[in-house]
Amino acid sequence: MAKRDYYEVLGVNRDASDEDIKKAYRKLAMKHHPDRNPDNPKAEEHFKEAKEAYEVLSDPKKRPAYDSYGHAGVDPSAGAAAGAGGFADAFGDIFGDIFGGNRQGRSNVFRGADLRYNLDITLEQAAHGFETKIRIPTMSQCETCKGSGAKPGTQPVTCTTCNGQGQVRMTQGFFSIQQTCSRCHGTGKIIPTPCTTCGGGGRVKHQKTLAVKIPPGVDEGDRVRLTGEGEPGVNGGPAGNLYVQVHIKAHTVFQRDHDDLHCEMPVSFATAALGGDVEIPTLDGSARIKVPPETQSGKTFRLRGKGIKGVRSHATGDLFCHVVVETPVNLNERQKELLREFEAITQKDAGRHNPRAKSWFDRVKEFFES
Ligand SMILES: [Zn+2]
Ligand SMILES: [Zn+2]
Repeated sequence: MAKRDYYEVLGVNRDASDEDIKKAYRKLAMKHHPDRNPDNPKAEEHFKEAKEAYEVLSDPKKRPAYDSYGHAGVDPSAGAAAGAGGFADAFGDIFGDIFGGNRQGRSNVFRGADLRYNLDITLEQAAHGFETKIRIPTMSQCETCKGSGAKPGTQPVTCTTCNGQGQVRMTQGFFSIQQTCSRCHGTGKIIPTPCTTCGGGGRVKHQKTLAVKIPPGVDEGDRVRLTGEGEPGVNGGPAGNLYVQVHIKAHTVFQRDHDDLHCEMPVSFATAALGGDVEIPTLDGSARIKVPPETQSGKTFRLRGKGIKGVRSHATGDLFCHVVVETPVNLNERQKELLREFEAITQKDAGRHNPRAKSWFDRVKEFFES
């Protein structure tokens, strides 16, 4: 049977990139793998054909030779040598990329995990910045065994399952994959007499206290990084970081919107009508607002620079005070009498004293008459 063109086998163009060739092969290998096609004797043939094509086209020396001279340009034994063992190896190599299984030669040194600590602070603390101490659970090297996990006076021994490699090769049908040794968990060592302090893990849990400096202006969700205060690394790897995530508690007076603050400003009915000074709180104390006569509900007073200066901002935000005219409650007879008299006088020229109510009433009337 004549050999098919390798590009045709993989279903790629002659100018396909290495990545395209690899992808095409993976797809075919998955599709035709004999383990997945036990009832189809052709599958193994297809699989071998694809594998042979891939071996040539993925080889920077063989591919140009094949392009120039065809099948004659590449060593025919390359394909013939692909017996069961040969192609199991190739399979392991390429699937190593997919499954992350081929760890041979890779070190067991890992960076420690990052940790997060949620810190609740008040709006005042967020605005002015503050310092605090936090306690976090942490793992550190066991003092008794100095991190080896072996009882003092004893030594870890080489794992016999993997011969100290930390990896074992599993062969099943055509599959041959590297796996982390389940006996030594990839360390290549077995501890016959574990340290009694840490149980053989080499690390112990305890609480550590850390000083945290929250800069002025932080906002909800901001994080402060404490470099190297995360989990310790494995086998000498660097420690992770600890991220202190800021959560700002609800404030009784102010609502924050980025660098600006908002607050409600209740004004009595008489002050709103006649005008007057109203004292309002700010984050740095208090301020006075001159309420002009005839102030209505919904009017907003803006106090520049009385907001918050954000961590990344150049200017300080503003404080917005939203007027709410308060209807008086719990009135006694005398107060009611005065209001009735006031209302009677006012209604004689409603359009002048309550223009909004008058205009609304006129519109309603028009609506019903039309
Ligand atoms: Zn120990
Ligand atoms: Zn082992």
